[in-house]
Amino acid sequence: MWMTQAAAQPSRWQQAIQYDMDIVLNSDNNRISGKQTIKYTNNSPDTLAFVFIHLYWNAFKPGSSMDVRSREMGNKVVGRNPNGSDRLDWDPRVRDRIANLSPEEEGYCTLQSLSIGGKPQRIELYETIAKVWLDKPLMPGTTTEMKTSFEAQVPIQIRRSGRDNAEGVAYSMSQWYPKVSEYDYQGWHPTPYIAREFYGVWGDYSVKITLDKQLKVAATGELQNAAAIGFGYDKPGTALKAISGNTRTWHFKGSKIHDFVWAADADYAHIVRQTTNGPTLHFFYKQNQRNDSLWSKTADTCALVYPIIAEHFGAYPWPVYSFIQGGDGGMEYAMATLVRSHSIGTAIHEWMHSWYQQLLGTNEGLYPWMDEGFTSFAESYVMHVMRNRNGNPWSSDYAGYIALARSKFEEPMSTHSDHYATNFAYGRAAYSKGAAFLAQLGYLLGDSLMFATLKRYYNEWKFKHPNPNDFIRIAEQTSGAELDWYKEYMVNSTKTIDYAIDSLWTDGSFTYVRIQRVGEFPMPVEINLFFKDSSQERHYVPLNLMYWDKTEFGDSIPTVKYNAQLWTHRSMVIRTTRRLIDLRQVLIDANDRMADIDRRNNQLQLQW
Ligand SMILES: [Zn+2]
Repeated sequence: MWMTQAAAQPSRWQQAIQYDMDIVLNSDNNRISGKQTIKYTNNSPDTLAFVFIHLYWNAFKPGSSMDVRSREMGNKVVGRNPNGSDRLDWDPRVRDRIANLSPEEEGYCTLQSLSIGGKPQRIELYETIAKVWLDKPLMPGTTTEMKTSFEAQVPIQIRRSGRDNAEGVAYSMSQWYPKVSEYDYQGWHPTPYIAREFYGVWGDYSVKITLDKQLKVAATGELQNAAAIGFGYDKPGTALKAISGNTRTWHFKGSKIHDFVWAADADYAHIVRQTTNGPTLHFFYKQNQRNDSLWSKTADTCALVYPIIAEHFGAYPWPVYSFIQGGDGGMEYAMATLVRSHSIGTAIHEWMHSWYQQLLGTNEGLYPWMDEGFTSFAESYVMHVMRNRNGNPWSSDYAGYIALARSKFEEPMSTHSDHYATNFAYGRAAYSKGAAFLAQLGYLLGDSLMFATLKRYYNEWKFKHPNPNDFIRIAEQTSGAELDWYKEYMVNSTKTIDYAIDSLWTDGSFTYVRIQRVGEFPMPVEINLFFKDSSQERHYVPLNLMYWDKTEFGDSIPTVKYNAQLWTHRSMVIRTTRRLIDLRQVLIDANDRMADIDRRNNQLQLQW
């Protein structure tokens, strides 16, 4: 047994980083000048001749990759709007807005210098990525200290980052600093920014932000100089302390994270809620009567649902989390989110990203479905429990995926998030199919084992970079079932599930039903028989590829278990001792937990 234990312990190496940043924001021209000291430790077995650095804001210039990509999507029709017009594939927030930015409105981030031991290193610029050649290669197991100076211009708010968002928040500062790209067992990940997902190095951040003294700052982590600032980090509701001079410096720290966000506005109100056995929640919003009531309701709800979250998905490991009004919708960062709407669903969704992927740090570019999909799964579940609903908590996630599967746009979930041909296919694959992936795992294993898998995944992979295989191995180890086939079909193919009732007959002593596999994707199948006397039978046909039988069905309906169906075989026959004339209905997947793309042939209603 000790060998199994040893094999279950992931031992993948990880780079380590420590950022010390000192920045000044000039509100007159919306420019930042900054200095960074970056301690970077190469824990890999490889010698590094260069490092890659993200300069995200260079995307907000006319003619950038992000701009060209968005306008190209504007030529693709992916459906119809409610008013009958063509639904274009571009993000309605972005459209062709970057192409029309004036020099004062555009964004940029310029790495002016990077030196090691006082020696400037050679920088090659590739739009949103800088390649920095090290004069001395970085050997395995060694640490280097890089000092940079950079200048950035805050773009008008287009996507996520920027100034003057639609709700009037002055500064939404995400992806704002030169950020070292992650190097892992798959090599460097210098992904040019086109407004999709992120990936970073685990580390510690210490950030000093100097700006107009009227502006209030909300950020990742904990404020270090609260007493000097005022603005009640300890006593919410208090005003900023009066000071002489025009600027004020805010100092924040966060540990064991891989990003840092901040936002600033003169009208931020600040409220706090303490969760039970969990983090302190901070809420920052533009103060007015409507917001006061909306945000205090959101705050109460978030504090209330934390125990449900911790029970099913694991404890939140950092001391604080901040919900900050800003950005252009909802976007997750380390220990904080920028949210625009007051939707409680959005707030829960962004917070759940603290698990997927701030804590379980998957490479979002490569596996966006482990980030957005798992988060959507958690959001749907928490909302379902909170609202005390019945039925399948993930029915809208399934519906989103099935609409994709029935469209002509689906691409495998293994596609890099930046390289889907349409935003539609990316969105439905990452969010809906990703959520359905987990929900359907509950159909395969039973919900207790599915949630036990998530807990074990949390315990073994938190503060690491798990990939799809790491996750499926946890599911296999937790359940004892073989699940490689499920990963292959769901992630690496666009094959779909469709089972159909073919025929039924009787020979006097038994009633028989033949089920046909129409789709290419094989699954274990559950067929419920409903009788006129209101009794029910479930007939469970396992799949040979799992080498395993489910025992938890979530209800007390009597279950007849069959030998495993061979995946190559398209038809299966079930039988009951009940008379055909007593049968009222045959239904495949009565709980709607199989992502069957055509449910019309799942049901047969009998009238005698
Ligand atoms: Zn999300």
